[in-house]
Amino acid sequence: MSAGCGHDTDFSGATAAYRRRLWLVIAINAGMFGVEGVAGLLSGSRALQADALDFFADAVTYGMSLAVIGMSLRVRATAAMAKGISLLLMGLWVLASTAWGVVAQATPAAETMGAIGFLALLANLASVAVLMSYRDGDANVRSVWLCSRNDAIGNIAVMIAALGVWGTATGWPDLIVAGIMAGLFLWSAVGIIRQARGELARAAVAT
Ligand SMILES: [Zn+2]
Repeated sequence: MSAGCGHDTDFSGATAAYRRRLWLVIAINAGMFGVEGVAGLLSGSRALQADALDFFADAVTYGMSLAVIGMSLRVRATAAMAKGISLLLMGLWVLASTAWGVVAQATPAAETMGAIGFLALLANLASVAVLMSYRDGDANVRSVWLCSRNDAIGNIAVMIAALGVWGTATGWPDLIVAGIMAGLFLWSAVGIIRQARGELARAAVAT
């Protein structure tokens, strides 16, 4: 749920072993984007849909981080800006979707929410395990590890929402968690765009 995942595109943990592990984490995140995205649409859960977008953003971010290793500050800052703007659009999308959910007042399928939320938790715990031996690395490597860990906490929020939906037979717990996720997307988008703007300005001065 921490949508700011690894927004520093400046990786120094780029050993072959670390790259292999990062590829594995990218595959886990991309796969879960598909699974959770479909489940989110079928169940009508906006929290699952938002969490699926987070998996997508993470897969793209890690892939981008690998792609721009060793490139100029301008390229890395441009990549970060692209990520910030995508995250902003994602946040606005989830916010609009959540607002629409308040109007529509549908009750999502709590069983699917709980089961897929649990699967997403396992996926993030697997990512944490894959990156465990790198958790004390430099700040950027560490941020990938922290990101998977924070996402695991977000998955628990989705499972609690599923329990709430089941208990209250309303969509409110789902909408509250989706709304919080939209807020986190927007919050980190603003931070990433601000940082990328600063880096682009520095890159312009340097050339
Ligand atoms: Zn994430």
